[in-house]
Amino acid sequence: MSETVRTTCPYCGVGCGVLATRNAGGGVDIAGDPEHPANFGRLCTKGAALGETVSLEGRVLKPLVMGEPTNWDAALDLVAKRFSQTIAEHGPDSIAFYVSGQLLTEDYYVANKLMKGFIGSANIDTNSRLCMASSVAGPGRVITILARPRAPQVGPG
Ligand code: SF4
Repeated sequence: MSETVRTTCPYCGVGCGVLATRNAGGGVDIAGDPEHPANFGRLCTKGAALGETVSLEGRVLKPLVMGEPTNWDAALDLVAKRFSQTIAEHGPDSIAFYVSGQLLTEDYYVANKLMKGFIGSANIDTNSRLCMASSVAGPGRVITILARPRAPQVGPG
């Protein structure tokens, strides 16, 4: 019988408790942790689909340049060269970073330092803003519409 691991959903700051159990097919079954104070067993759609993200199938595990595999040194040299050329021709604001919302705080620091401290632009944002903002705003709108009081019915007589 597989051991169940108590862990935390990595997607957002709610930090829901998750129970992860390896299944017979080699995947992981996911359930909300009923004892976790952040979610008491519930998970949103993203958290509930965590089990679908653990496979390596379809992931890019090595650098690719124009779809061709290469090594990290060559890939990083190419990125640095293209950044330098673009900045020289069009200035630092011609570069922008759109960064994953799943980075750690230290990773964010490095990315911000690179953009603001070295490239010299403030063009950096993460999908944390768009992803979670839309996840919150969408259901909020729907619930508001459903909960809106109905206008008084005006009829004859
Ligand atoms: S609200 Fe959803 S995305 Fe955020 S921690 Fe909980 S399950 Fe994960």
